[in-house]
Amino acid sequence: MAKAKAKAPRRTLDSYTVKPINITVKPGDCVLMRPSDPSKPSYVAKIERIESRGHSVRVHVRWYYRPEDSIGGRRQFHGSKEVFQSDHYDTQSADTIEGKCTVHSFKNYTTLDAVGNDDFFCRFEYNSSSGAFNPESVAVYCKCEMPYNPDDLMVQCEGCSDWFHPACIEMSAEEANRLGHFFCEKCSSQGQKKVKSSDHGTRQSEAKVETKRRKVMK
Ligand SMILES: [Zn+2]
Ligand SMILES: [Zn+2]
Repeated sequence: MAKAKAKAPRRTLDSYTVKPINITVKPGDCVLMRPSDPSKPSYVAKIERIESRGHSVRVHVRWYYRPEDSIGGRRQFHGSKEVFQSDHYDTQSADTIEGKCTVHSFKNYTTLDAVGNDDFFCRFEYNSSSGAFNPESVAVYCKCEMPYNPDDLMVQCEGCSDWFHPACIEMSAEEANRLGHFFCEKCSSQGQKKVKSSDHGTRQSEAKVETKRRKVMK
């Protein structure tokens, strides 16, 4: 009997309906999965394959890591809904699936009108053994030279197109929201110089847009 049970054939399924929540998942779907520690937030994963064996259904997944689960930990510029696509594959019981979710590209995420509970974004691939990120460097903004955190309010300078945190330019969030036009400190002082020697100032600010500062992720 035991032998026959062990030999239950494995079958790859095109989809599977998780009974208690009545949600059908397919390979390629991103899902939230119940963590073994209930105090932790749900795991985020992409389903690679669904396999049934007898009565049990297992999903082969590729994990998305939350910043706090990475070797470097959560950094100031990490968004609250940021996840990293990891190289960590796993097999889990399909019944730990709690629901579907969407992992957006960074660009798409920043254009969402409203961010739901099941919306996440990913801009980095993460190597779970070395802690390295791909891409290794990201564009940085503001006087504080931070990568963009989509949760933070930022204002854009009309001169150099750089983005600034209101706090870094001694402005309150309310002031920033009311702002019609904004020129950063550098551009407003260049603007004053421009009155004296017009040619110079213009060329300088044009060049600045081209030079994207980048920072290496550690
Ligand atoms: Zn700043
Ligand atoms: Zn500027």
